[in-house]
Amino acid sequence: MENLWGRRLLTKELEQVPKEVIKNVESKSVPAVIKKGRSIQCNRCSKRTRIRECRLSESSFYCPHCLFLGRCDTSQKIYLFGQPEGSPREVIFSWEGKLTARQRKIAVKLAAPDKRRHLVWAVTGSGKTEMLYESLLTALRAGGRVAVVSPRIDVCNELFLRFTAVFPEEQITLLHGKADEPYRYSTFVICTTHQLYRFYRAFDLLVIDEVDAFPYVGDPGLSYASDTAVKLQGKLIYLSATPDDQTLKKIKPSFEIHRLALRFHQRLLPEPQLVFWNNWRKNCLKPKKIRPLLKVIERLLEENHVLLFCPSIALMTSLKEILKVCLPHYRITDVSSRDEKRTRKVQKMRTESYDVLLSTMILERGVTFERVSVIVLGADHPSFTKSSLVQIAGRADRKGAFTNSQVYFYYEEKTRAIQKACREIKDMNREGEKLR
Ligand SMILES: [Zn+2]
Repeated sequence: MENLWGRRLLTKELEQVPKEVIKNVESKSVPAVIKKGRSIQCNRCSKRTRIRECRLSESSFYCPHCLFLGRCDTSQKIYLFGQPEGSPREVIFSWEGKLTARQRKIAVKLAAPDKRRHLVWAVTGSGKTEMLYESLLTALRAGGRVAVVSPRIDVCNELFLRFTAVFPEEQITLLHGKADEPYRYSTFVICTTHQLYRFYRAFDLLVIDEVDAFPYVGDPGLSYASDTAVKLQGKLIYLSATPDDQTLKKIKPSFEIHRLALRFHQRLLPEPQLVFWNNWRKNCLKPKKIRPLLKVIERLLEENHVLLFCPSIALMTSLKEILKVCLPHYRITDVSSRDEKRTRKVQKMRTESYDVLLSTMILERGVTFERVSVIVLGADHPSFTKSSLVQIAGRADRKGAFTNSQVYFYYEEKTRAIQKACREIKDMNREGEKLR
């Protein structure tokens, strides 16, 4: 029965659940899709579609926007299940670390009962997760239900490990497309953003990590899902290292914004060094033309390992082969979303088993390596947005002692994304400098 609490499910998603159980949980149902003139509106993702684009038969229609969650169509209803209020209880919290004075100030504000909408705008490596402990603890102790949400599966897995360690007695449910376990009710949920479509007024505290990241930005469906997954009196916290203008504009009137411009270890962000490289796409694969890049890599390797970001898997694979030939004394490998060994490779990079790790954008956020310098090959490629460039640059000098980590952007055309990313890093450093 608990498994239905706070859920938003289609008729077909309830087929396995006995009718008596469904009856025992307070619920209301609405048509999954409603016709409004010449278009339909989906009650799961809130999006509208013209009927000529979504017709199944003369009188039946489906929503094409949320197909990935299973088809939502006119034959279905959406059940919105209620959830009883919890009672205050004891929660074990075991964290040995300490917040800096600035982190503490933000953590206290987030946990205070008065304000219900927050954005934490904090540089990469500033310890955002730790600033949440206080709010999570307060909500759980009051008998509330909490969720921490990220667009990336890797980040969800990492958060799961961290929260399990500091809340050792809590049953934490991890939900994403690749999780093996079936859904079960718990008061603490970690999930990908898309899972929010299956919750309704469920959470007293909902934290959304990396609101600047794909696929949250510019997706009104996801913002509808998160606004309705949180309880009416619940608290919503957005986290971002680099919010985009659109998000900021949208949330400014109702959100309290907390900025943290200095990293946990009190050092400034390494500022990207820009290197113009004519026709880098072709020249990086020519042994003669690649020499200047090799020199930079070798110099960086004297002090740190190197993370080299490429805009595509095809280019990365070819470049890896060339680097292996030209730099035979170094341990070089690559990793992408299609790589089955990716978790193991990332782990091996953590233990410093590679000198150069080539990567597509999958390592853009949520991962921390000690002692790395960062190179972006083709920072002007359209797949690198301002926020991804800021995140990638933020992989350098995250933790441990100072090792002179550096960041290089290779480009042919100085795009707006490059300019904005560099400006934002400089601005944060100017602000951070005053805090030191
Ligand atoms: Zn839909």
